Amino acid sequence: MNSENAPREPTPEELQHWESRAPGWQIRCRKCGFTEPFGKYGIRLAAAGTACTIGFCRRCRWLRFQVIERKDAPAGAAQSANLRSFRTIGLIGLAVTIALNLAALLAWQKPSAKYFSDAWWGAWFPSYVIWLVFAAIGFAGCCRPKPGDMKNSS
Ligand SMILES: [Zn+2]
Repeated sequence: MNSENAPREPTPEELQHWESRAPGWQIRCRKCGFTEPFGKYGIRLAAAGTACTIGFCRRCRWLRFQVIERKDAPAGAAQSANLRSFRTIGLIGLAVTIALNLAALLAWQKPSAKYFSDAWWGAWFPSYVIWLVFAAIGFAGCCRPKPGDMKNSS
């Protein structure tokens, strides 16, 4: 009689009930990617962002790190995360380039490292441009108004 060992597919009524308790929220196993409506486990109606928890994954049949997230969130969240990493990479690259340039100029006495000299434009300027473009993409993406902020401006 006891069938708790075999994972049972939820009925449509259950799914609907869980969905109504936490609309749009799901819980995802970080190990295998198995997702379930979060409403099965709790109520989450007016929260934002993602949260991490430890729970029992039905597919792994073991305790796993699980992410509580909105089903419709990943695209936008991933995009702003990408833009943030663009900005970080750009700023780090720029800092490294400046540090190398200064080291070449001061420590190694390389003539090409002299700012705005003919050799500098060829040897160093492209590096500055590349990292500045990276950083600019990141900053431009982050400063753009989010879709939610657009409703007041017409
Ligand atoms: Zn799993």
